Amino acid sequence: MEKQRLVRELVAIVGSKWVISNPEDLLVFEYDGSVSRGLPDVVALPSTVDEVSKIMRLAHQEGIPVVPRGSGTGLSGGSVPESGGIVLAFTRMNHILEIDPVNRLAVVEPGVVNIDLTSATSKYSLHYVPDPSSQRACTIGGNVAENAGGPHCLAYGVTTNHVLGTEVVLANGDVVWLGGKTCKPGYDLTGIIVGSEGTLGVVTKIIVRLMPDPESIETLLAIFKEMDKAASAVSAIIARGIIPAALEMMDRLTIQAVEPAIHAGYPAEAGAVLLIEVEGLKEEVAEQANDIEGICSAEGAMEVRRAKNALEKERLWAGRKNAIGAIGRLSPNYYLLDGVVPRTKLVEVMRKMADTGQRFGFQICNVFHAGDGNIHPNILFNTQVHGETQRVLQAGAEILKACVDAGGTITGEHGVGLEKREYMPWIFSDEDLEAMVRLRVAFTHGAPLNPGKIFPPRKARNE
Ligand SMILES: Cc1cc2nc3c(=O)[nH]c(=O)nc-3n(C[C@H](O)[C@H](O)[C@H](O)COP(=O)(O)OP(=O)(O)OC[C@H]3O[C@@H](n4cnc5c(N)ncnc54)[C@H](O)[C@@H]3O)c2cc1C
Repeated sequence: MEKQRLVRELVAIVGSKWVISNPEDLLVFEYDGSVSRGLPDVVALPSTVDEVSKIMRLAHQEGIPVVPRGSGTGLSGGSVPESGGIVLAFTRMNHILEIDPVNRLAVVEPGVVNIDLTSATSKYSLHYVPDPSSQRACTIGGNVAENAGGPHCLAYGVTTNHVLGTEVVLANGDVVWLGGKTCKPGYDLTGIIVGSEGTLGVVTKIIVRLMPDPESIETLLAIFKEMDKAASAVSAIIARGIIPAALEMMDRLTIQAVEPAIHAGYPAEAGAVLLIEVEGLKEEVAEQANDIEGICSAEGAMEVRRAKNALEKERLWAGRKNAIGAIGRLSPNYYLLDGVVPRTKLVEVMRKMADTGQRFGFQICNVFHAGDGNIHPNILFNTQVHGETQRVLQAGAEILKACVDAGGTITGEHGVGLEKREYMPWIFSDEDLEAMVRLRVAFTHGAPLNPGKIFPPRKARNE
């Protein structure tokens, strides 16, 4: 369909104010938080499921690619429209439709910003667990599509463990409900939608589980001279049978970026810090905090501090939650990776990573969910230096391969998107990938819904 006609059709559905087609305005939708780029032909901002359905039907009839978009904080190119087409931005569908404190659930639209949900439920002493560090910006729809995690997912699970049901608009415009407020027998289709990166359908409502706020919380900062010792402490804590609500690690370079920016109280001389939080009943929490202090000291911690009040706790967390932004002070660009390794292989993989950094001549800083072995190396580079982007991608691939070789995988929470589609054969056989492509076709009948994501291009052609 010719672009002017497409714009006219979209204006007829959502109104002229909510269709963006000027080339300079489209630039904003060219990228997410990754290094991928791709311009859409047009952006539509629907406000109802009916409008979403009409747009999907139009795109289906005309064979136009559709790329759903939340806030664009994704780190794997998921919302980047590589093949152009329509970007469906959920900015206006940002309403919390229902909070049911008795049944401990909420119904939200996909454009609700993550932290706004917990802010709205706090008056009932309830919260929504998945708390990505980007939670002040990212949307619940984007979280569902990426099966997002966060510092507090170690004990309670990632997004998929907190989604009860979704309303989904399929590629042909049909609207279906998968899952619901109560358990349903049959296939777990909600589980398939969560983490599907916008390639199976467009999520327009989400029923989420809410958790009661804990009676007591203890936040500890364990300070180590070396990263290796901090990594051993992580394994030792879990081996003791303690599953903290959060167990996060930051290395020397990250601390050096965070402190001048956030003043979180992380000591400049530290080689690594662990930010550990335990929560639950008062007596149990006190006991676990004492045990953790003992374990960290036995593993060689220079010091273990405990937050004495809410303000101190907030400061410690501000350092962690703003760390990735603070890393921006160290270099013009950084490439943020997302790999998973068995906890016991953390030291081995960190050493290989340091070696990769040295060989490629890049500094790498690490801030990550150590408790579940989900590492986030940030490779510092400069896109303005000729050939650096290419080399940073090579270094990134080498680090992710080291994760896979250690028994881990290529993503813990940021998804595959465009960025890691070529690495899928490292972890899946041809037959596995064929089965996934067949599942996608069962949902989309070959329609170009978020095309180019997840599958290596030669596999995607089999659609
Ligand atoms: C500083 C920083 C820190 C981060 N920390 C974390 C972290 O701790 N944990 C974590 O998991 N991630 C983290 N991320 C990554 C990112 O915030 C998450 O992946 C988040 O879930 C993306 O949400 P979004 O609204 O920005 O989605 P987008 O980036 O806009 O889109 C992400 C994917 O979701 C799809 N999508 C969006 N809305 C819909 C919908 N309604 N229906 C179907 N598909 C849809 C898109 O097509 C795309 O594939 C971080 C990112 C940054 C920049």
